[in-house]
Amino acid sequence: MNNIELYIAGAVLVFIILSFIKGGKKPPEESFKCARCKQQEKYTPRTIEAWRKGFNKIYCQKCHQLWWRNNPEKARSRQVVHRGGGGSGCLGMVMLFLVLPPSIYGLVQYVS
Ligand SMILES: [Zn+2]
Repeated sequence: MNNIELYIAGAVLVFIILSFIKGGKKPPEESFKCARCKQQEKYTPRTIEAWRKGFNKIYCQKCHQLWWRNNPEKARSRQVVHRGGGGSGCLGMVMLFLVLPPSIYGLVQYVS
């Protein structure tokens, strides 16, 4: 295992721990009906998050992207989970991701 792999492993570990802490509340079903195209879709982390926040309109990936493109302003204001986006809500998460993996890495280095 080289350094970068260990770093990624640390990040994954943090992600797993965080998702446990954030609450194991999951939708009762594996799939949902898209509010726009009425397609049956499997839940993704994004739609699970939307479901947790109580949105009654959940879009499939395709419609979500379409909506995102048509409503860039709205999308920003009610941002749910947008990978790479730095909304104030997930700033804490980003900080954790930046700080925790190196400390885990350091810990592993220290112990071994
Ligand atoms: Zn759809």
